[in-house]
Amino acid sequence: MTSWRIGTTVVHKVLETELPVPAAGALRTEDAGLLKGHEWPGPDYSREDGTYLLSVHALLIDTGAARILVDTCVGNGRASVPMLQMLDTTWLDDLAALGWPAETIDTVVCTHLHFDHVGWNTRLVDGAWTPTFPNARHLITRTEWEYWTATEPGTLSDTVYPLVDAGLVDFVDADHQVCDGVRLEPAPGHTPGQVAVVVESAGERAVITGDLVHHPVQFVQPDVASLADTDADQAAETRRKFVARYADTGTLVIGTHFPTPSAGLLEHAADGTLRYSLPAPTDPASRG
Ligand SMILES: [Zn+2]
Repeated sequence: MTSWRIGTTVVHKVLETELPVPAAGALRTEDAGLLKGHEWPGPDYSREDGTYLLSVHALLIDTGAARILVDTCVGNGRASVPMLQMLDTTWLDDLAALGWPAETIDTVVCTHLHFDHVGWNTRLVDGAWTPTFPNARHLITRTEWEYWTATEPGTLSDTVYPLVDAGLVDFVDADHQVCDGVRLEPAPGHTPGQVAVVVESAGERAVITGDLVHHPVQFVQPDVASLADTDADQAAETRRKFVARYADTGTLVIGTHFPTPSAGLLEHAADGTLRYSLPAPTDPASRG
């Protein structure tokens, strides 16, 4: 289990699955060597065979007063998703084993509505897709909802509409304050209404990226789009702003698809090169 302490708040990663992908498979690049020649936080960010390990995980934020789940992976038994059909993982049991049974989740944040971020919103119970987190408010930005319902409403039928029907969704602005110390921040481009999630406590800060990047090389080269970006120019602009806002600030940047260790700091070296690296190991206990 990977977790990080941000002041008095704890963020846990709950892994669903990992799969090797070629750089040119997840990113819009012709450059097979794109990931080489950088120092990354772990070996799976650039593997010998030219792939990196794409991680699918959820992030739990425990402020002590609120339990917030950011994105809900692919889910079990999904037939109509790309690559990850009919998963049968222990993800929901793993969550309970952490001390977080589904009914104890207060808030589910959907950074955006791609299938690998909303899957466990529902699960199959007696043949019907049923809300997994019956006591949670589910936060979706208005922009994101309007985009998907106007363009591809069918993709939401199993994962989002059951929540709407059950009255469990709050449609919010992209700068919504979730609770004390946790807020959304607009990150459009990958999808029109995507958000990042900012966690602040006792003078420390972390930010969960959503899919504004699929690999940290996109911080170094913001113009490298993700394959699924709906607006590549806007996504690049969002990445530039993100780096300007968070590099060299001590902010822990937690990636929604980064392999282990899944978090690091953005720092400029003396020669101006941007690096994404592990925080200095001053207090390993508090940095998981
Ligand atoms: Zn996505």
